[in-house]
Amino acid sequence: MSKPEKLIVDGKRLDGRGPFDMRPIKFTAGVLKRADGSCYLEFGGNKVMAAVYGPREVHPRHMQNASRAIVRYRYNMASFSVEERKRPGPDRRSIEISKVSREALEGVVMEELYPRSAIDVFVEILQADAGSRVAGINAASVALADAGIPMKCLVSAVAVGKIDGEVVLDLNKDEDNYGSADLPIAMNQFGEITLCQMDGHLTEEEFGRALDMAVDGCKKIHELQKQALIEKYGQDITPDVAQPIEGGETNE
Ligand code: ADP
Repeated sequence: MSKPEKLIVDGKRLDGRGPFDMRPIKFTAGVLKRADGSCYLEFGGNKVMAAVYGPREVHPRHMQNASRAIVRYRYNMASFSVEERKRPGPDRRSIEISKVSREALEGVVMEELYPRSAIDVFVEILQADAGSRVAGINAASVALADAGIPMKCLVSAVAVGKIDGEVVLDLNKDEDNYGSADLPIAMNQFGEITLCQMDGHLTEEEFGRALDMAVDGCKKIHELQKQALIEKYGQDITPDVAQPIEGGETNE
């Protein structure tokens, strides 16, 4: 699409959403037979598959950590995921996204329980439509829980941006292309931020508003992540309720 004259008309965005609305989101947990945990996510036009393997032996062995598990994360865009064919294989962007996404998740994984092992997270972007890194983190978080990896809580993520001078939640592709700021944010359910990047400019006041919007969006996403796990397991296995309490029992 060529640059539209306006991205907001009569208070509505071009896809009909208001500033606080996210695109439709659908999580499905446990879709891959061979992975220990998996999740398929549609987040607006993004279609994302996350697969988790582990805890398992670390290869090469020199990467082992004697006191905890290592988390590895690979974000990959399929060559057919974008309009122009994307050259297959890692590039600077996917290496950066893999790094920040790993950092967004590793704080909630209880790595100390599995010394010398690795937890591998693979995120495949089958269709990209802006916000693919946050979609990947959301799917990976559900896939980790589906794999039974002990976690302190789930991580949820959403991007906030600025278009036509207004702060809005969850940019779509055109808004990402023609907007003036893009701020992907991930947080755990206690509101602790585990990823915060920013492209473009926001004033301090706008930044505060963007953060509030992200908190609101992440709360909704957390609820959907939880529901996807309930759908698969018939009960709430989200880490906050499934964590062992004193006496080794769960507080279900
Ligand atoms: P995110 O997907 O997390 O928003 P970016 O801001 O880097 O990450 O990318 C925004 C969007 O631009 C992507 O979701 C995708 O639709 C598109 N895009 C990214 N890389 C490419 C590429 N190599 N070729 C075509 N489109 C791309």
